[in-house]
Amino acid sequence: MCGPIWMRSCLAAVAALLLAANTSPTHGQTRATVFEGARVIVGDGSAPIENAAIVVTGDRITAVGRRGEVAAPAGAARIDLAGKTMMPALVDDHVHMGYRRGTSFTADNYTRENLLDMLDRYAWYGVAAVLETGTGRGDLPYRVRAEARTGARYLTTGSGFGMPNAGPGGPMRDSAYGVTEEAQARKYVRELAAHKADMVKIWVDDRNGTVEKLKPNLYRAIIDEAHQHNLRVMAHITELADAKDLLRAGLDGFAHMVRDRDVDEEFLGLIKTRPNVFFLETLWGERRAIITAKPAWVDDPALREAFSPESLQQLAEQLSPDPKADPQAVQRARAMAATNLRNTAKLYAAGARIGLGTDTGGVSGGQFFGLGSHVELELLVTKVGLTPMQALAVGTRTSAENLGLSDLGTLAAGKSADFIVLDANPLDDIANTRRINRVYLRGEEIPRAALSAKWNGRG
Ligand SMILES: [Zn+2]
Repeated sequence: MCGPIWMRSCLAAVAALLLAANTSPTHGQTRATVFEGARVIVGDGSAPIENAAIVVTGDRITAVGRRGEVAAPAGAARIDLAGKTMMPALVDDHVHMGYRRGTSFTADNYTRENLLDMLDRYAWYGVAAVLETGTGRGDLPYRVRAEARTGARYLTTGSGFGMPNAGPGGPMRDSAYGVTEEAQARKYVRELAAHKADMVKIWVDDRNGTVEKLKPNLYRAIIDEAHQHNLRVMAHITELADAKDLLRAGLDGFAHMVRDRDVDEEFLGLIKTRPNVFFLETLWGERRAIITAKPAWVDDPALREAFSPESLQQLAEQLSPDPKADPQAVQRARAMAATNLRNTAKLYAAGARIGLGTDTGGVSGGQFFGLGSHVELELLVTKVGLTPMQALAVGTRTSAENLGLSDLGTLAAGKSADFIVLDANPLDDIANTRRINRVYLRGEEIPRAALSAKWNGRG
């Protein structure tokens, strides 16, 4: 039946079947739903639309405006969201996939099942897309990325680059390419390009003098080869001097903020010439040095819907003063975090692109998938001084742009229908982004209650 002569009609039949999956049986058109009555935060920093209507057709937003002024297809379903707030789903530009499972942290956890579970966990919290930064293992991330599924979008930089045995920390260390020769580094970049990696990650950090920093000739070769293959390069850094040289070498983004000293005029001048360079501030990853007294939200019973009692116990301990900690180490970490906060504020004020990047799943990020992305928004307001509206734009529009995801980040016609419905207004209190009523990704509601039931006691 599907011989060459009939191929064309066969393809048409397959296309019709695919369309049918999104088709209302009574009207024979792609299903449309009008979400009406909510306050809509567009995500681009513009004033919210009160008593709004958003039309979703299939997996796309087809209209956004004031209720009564937006045309909806005849027969569209209607969902009343009076009293709620709608905001774009978040995007997290710096995560580590696969190693964490509940309180365990090991390379043995890096399985397809665990990667898919993490993507569901991000979706549960209204995170539409994440970038795995440099700690992918083998071909698995690319295979999972290609799978159709219901959770968050999975972007990956595959394996990142460091000197041998000097890249990422903990059980993630052996996932990176260890390089000593430029030709070898270029060959690995071509491997990433063949896999269509979403970006390239490098580590330029001596980890307090414990490992060798990736050499400048090597990162120049990596950046040059990546750019020849239309790949951008992001760097883990700590120090201002490295950040300056990386900018001169053509780097495209920073996975962390400069934390050894305050950025200076020379640095701000370099940034002005490279307006598309992005900075991720990893405030969640540094939460232990930023949050110095246990916050009340740690005891919020709603957290039990996503995390096990053991994980929540760990979280409470991480956010409480540790009497056994070395006071000098605590002092050092707090000074670096304070520098991070000052530099984030300074770069934001200078017009640099600041994106949400939590390091969740990594050594310091822990297993709090999705929660960390929301808390980082709160810290941007309470510790950096952004307004809630500015922080929301960081976590939605700018973070999507940083990853080249032009169909995410704002609520507008033509965008993917990825949004969070909130019970309270985050413009009044940014912590309200965690008062999630429902999440929709690609026009489909995420089955949050069913996922919670599945996770109950695990994770
Ligand atoms: Zn990281």
